[in-house]
Amino acid sequence: MSVVVKRAAKEKFMDFLADRNLRVTAQRQAIVDTVFATDQHFTAEQLLEWSRRRDKSVSRATVYRTLPLLTESGLVREMDFGKDYKFYDPNYAEHPNHNHIICKDCEKIVEFESDKIEKLESEITRRLGFSITAQRLQITASCEELKKLGACKKKVTTAKSAVADASDEPH
Ligand SMILES: [Zn+2]
Ligand SMILES: [Zn+2]
Repeated sequence: MSVVVKRAAKEKFMDFLADRNLRVTAQRQAIVDTVFATDQHFTAEQLLEWSRRRDKSVSRATVYRTLPLLTESGLVREMDFGKDYKFYDPNYAEHPNHNHIICKDCEKIVEFESDKIEKLESEITRRLGFSITAQRLQITASCEELKKLGACKKKVTTAKSAVADASDEPH
């Protein structure tokens, strides 16, 4: 996502906090800066880890208190891939109708958009007498590596463990 869109989204979120008279502590600022600097989908534990690189004092509790505010603001979308933890998507401001493929082993997530799918979905919806208010498609699949090697080298281990030495850098 473009830097301009990211910055606008972050400003909107800061307004959202101000409207609710929520104090922006240094911890919360580090979390917000992290969220609006990445295009990657993340779990709560990943967000904790990334935010701690900006500010070591960021606590798990603050991350878990900030996430519902982010989703409530509409700027970050919570995604459920049937795991026992959720993923969060910061890319909806620019692409409100994008879809996802997730690798069932390494949990690599790729986004895509398709006019064809959108058209098909609204046709089906109309035929059934509904009108669409939101659409998203989630595909669980095997990535290149999983197909080739039978297992992915880079497993996601951040869900439960909160180790500070993980090496998953947001780009
Ligand atoms: Zn996405
Ligand atoms: Zn994989």
